[in-house]
Amino acid sequence: MSEIRDQKLAPSGNRKIDWVQDHMPVLRSIREDFLKTRPFEGMKVALSVHMEAKTAYFATVIKDGGAEVFATGCNPLSTQDDVAAALASRGVEVFAWRGETEEEYDRHLSGVLKAGPQIIVDDGGDLINMMHSRFRDLIPGVVGGCEETTTGIHRLKAMDADGQLQIPMMLVNNAQCKFLFDNRYGTGQSVWDGINRTTNLIVAGKKVVVAGYGWCGKGVAMRAKGLGARVYVTEIDPIKATEAVMDGFEVLPMKEAAPIGDFFVTVTGCRDVITTEHMMEMKDGAIVCNAGHFNVEIDMEGLDAIAKEKILRRDSIMGYVLPNGRSVNILAEGRLVNLAAGDGHPAEIMDMSFSIQALCARYLADHRGEKLPMLNPVPAEIDREVAERKLRFLGVSIDHLTEDQQKYIDSWNL
Ligand code: NAD
Ligand code: SAH
Repeated sequence: MSEIRDQKLAPSGNRKIDWVQDHMPVLRSIREDFLKTRPFEGMKVALSVHMEAKTAYFATVIKDGGAEVFATGCNPLSTQDDVAAALASRGVEVFAWRGETEEEYDRHLSGVLKAGPQIIVDDGGDLINMMHSRFRDLIPGVVGGCEETTTGIHRLKAMDADGQLQIPMMLVNNAQCKFLFDNRYGTGQSVWDGINRTTNLIVAGKKVVVAGYGWCGKGVAMRAKGLGARVYVTEIDPIKATEAVMDGFEVLPMKEAAPIGDFFVTVTGCRDVITTEHMMEMKDGAIVCNAGHFNVEIDMEGLDAIAKEKILRRDSIMGYVLPNGRSVNILAEGRLVNLAAGDGHPAEIMDMSFSIQALCARYLADHRGEKLPMLNPVPAEIDREVAERKLRFLGVSIDHLTEDQQKYIDSWNL
């Protein structure tokens, strides 16, 4: 039985799913294949991914591949209750609602694991972590899993290094058709969509501080520049910092950036990137948000402890009055601003990410009964297949190597 907020919300959720489906042609084409080949016949698939429209469409594609699907969120604030209701009405068992308490989030994740899935699709590592800590008896039944995001893969690598990982995992985030588009262009656009719709303030002429210049940070900084902001970058990696300098951004430590910025966006996957000491240095009214991982990049506990007052300024904007009399505005409780205060990445981007997910799930189903390594890069053929289909739907043709060109490239005696 699904655990959702209100089944009556389904019509609005259905409209959202129908809309994104129109803009996800690669995944639609994979669905056509799945309907014919039914790769997941007789299998149970558990998903822990942001419960919004693109995820819902992805879940139905897996279902159309023959699976019984159990879906939960991967962030207590990113579930859209109308979408959860619509998905439940489409024959998927759903355990999620927006604004879950920690206990409810935990119960919803354990709900999908109790189904005894053979394939697990995780985003951020919570489901795999829970499986290894509390549902070890179910591990032998699991064929494998897929991990959606950068930090989830860091956690898997740490588990593997400790000899703890017992489920073969596909490293979906590290596919080129994932991080080059999702992390860069997806985060780049959806973070500004989330900030703009939440604050309704101008970005042009403002000073934007981006913490972390990885794939997400590059996207966020690039789009901030496009909106007319002056952009500052903080980093800990000398190579990424050099890249940011060459891309035309000012690089400096957070301590120096704190008094400068009007907007702050963290996208590092690290904790305590913005501390209370930094916030005490900020201008009155500075806007601070996170688009990296969970709610640890901004020290929210420290902020709660020092704040003299908390004032709800607008939906998803909490003003914290600091001991120095100035205020900082935190968006979406310090959780992913693009998903907790927006609709996440656009459909055309999730088309690629979820197509990689769908083909990796099929890869696991096709290899059931075989001994797979614990950490599996996405096969190059899957990456290529998604790019080829995407180009086809974009109506873009490319050149192909002639036989002579291929021989030239393959020879050493030039
Ligand atoms: P990445 O590894 O490419 O980049 C992270 C960057 O942050 C690195 O360059 C690293 O050197 C830097 N960094 C780490 N600690 C830092 C610190 N204390 N201060 C300054 N810089 C620091 O990773 P990515 O793919 O860009 O992902 C970043 C985070 O965003 C991850 O947690 C990932 O899971 C998450 N993510 C979020 C979304 C979203 O929709 N909001 C999308 C994709 C990824
Ligand atoms: N669950 C953790 C981990 C970060 S989520 C957390 O909530 O903090 C980051 C992932 O969200 C990205 O890798 C991206 O692929 C995914 N994402 C972004 N927009 C999305 C959308 N519209 N629907 C589903 N997933 C989305």
